[in-house]
Amino acid sequence: MNRPIYLDYNATTPVDSRVLETMLPWFTEQFGNAASRTHLYGWEAAEAVEIARRQVARILGATEKEIVFTSGATESNNLALTGVFEASSKKHFITVQTEHKAILDVCAYLEKLGGEVTYLAPDTDGLITPQQVSDALRPDTALVSVMWANNETGVIQPIRELARICNERGVLFHSDATQAVGKLPVSVEGIDLLSLSAHKLYGPKGIGALYVRKGTPLNIQMHGGGHERGRRSGTLNVPGIVGLGKAAELAQQTLTQEAERLAALRDQLETQLLQQIPGTRVNGSRISRLPQVSNLAFEAVDGEALLINLTRIAVSNGSACTSASVLPSHVLKAMDLSDDLAHASVRFSLGRYTTEENIAEAISHVVAMVAKTRTDFLVM
Ligand SMILES: *Cc1c(COP(=O)(O)O)cnc(C)c1O
Repeated sequence: MNRPIYLDYNATTPVDSRVLETMLPWFTEQFGNAASRTHLYGWEAAEAVEIARRQVARILGATEKEIVFTSGATESNNLALTGVFEASSKKHFITVQTEHKAILDVCAYLEKLGGEVTYLAPDTDGLITPQQVSDALRPDTALVSVMWANNETGVIQPIRELARICNERGVLFHSDATQAVGKLPVSVEGIDLLSLSAHKLYGPKGIGALYVRKGTPLNIQMHGGGHERGRRSGTLNVPGIVGLGKAAELAQQTLTQEAERLAALRDQLETQLLQQIPGTRVNGSRISRLPQVSNLAFEAVDGEALLINLTRIAVSNGSACTSASVLPSHVLKAMDLSDDLAHASVRFSLGRYTTEENIAEAISHVVAMVAKTRTDFLVM
């Protein structure tokens, strides 16, 4: 079967073949435990981990000692928020309604433990302002967590200004930068904690990192052999870590050109769909946005029917499946979209292997399928 064109890079990316090649020896001949101190197998694994740590640190402008390897951004977010919650006497947290579930669900958990969380509401463009954060700060605020770039809309928050306000007020600042690392120049300047994940930047699934600024009070969440300077126990996933390091290095090397190439393709896709399909609108700021994402709402379309008709492309829509039902995306709802428009929204996210031909084919397919879905709807 002809596989659909993959336009869902924000969900996950394929492993770059250069990343895979770098990883392979660490599964077989060089399989040592990085914590083994008594022989070559352990030494070489430990050295590979330190090279990867340097590669990750470099892409963030951090030092090696500030990088903690985890199983991914979900774990990094859990370690950051719960770790600070437990280590601090202050129990108020601030975050945003449009965060990933890997932040919102941790916040809900902290509320159960007696914490208080303020959820800032974005404007209809998906943006929050430094003033909102400033106004929400309290004497008992421990930490502010704001994602760098949104996974559904690509909207980029004013991280520098937000971090500066928190620094001035002596409040810790965390950012889930999973969608930003490798796509935008990201630096940890002014930031205390930052989460990232390899599988969003052409590395393998199940490996990520948390940047922890030196001196940040953080209670450990994974107890065991005291790996990662006691901050995250468990035998290190050496092939995964090596892959994350290589992926970070590659992303850094091509960041600018790749952002330009993808922005041109994304703009082509977006302009054509806006022109050719009446009643189409862009969800989220078009100014402060990742280069490779376009989230579009199609008026007068049944979202579920549209997604069923879009057989030639792999995309995701403005709905979240829970065990009970299909709910409209909490991100789009927070931006004041109606349930219908949220359901009838499609996220196109492009990446390293997206070609001009892919985009041309996607445009004609989406145009045809939105028209078909609308006609089917009228006939019914
Ligand atoms: C994908 C993603 C996560 C989860 O990352 P995992 O490594 O899959 O746990 C968290 N936050 C954002 C913004 C994401 O895009």
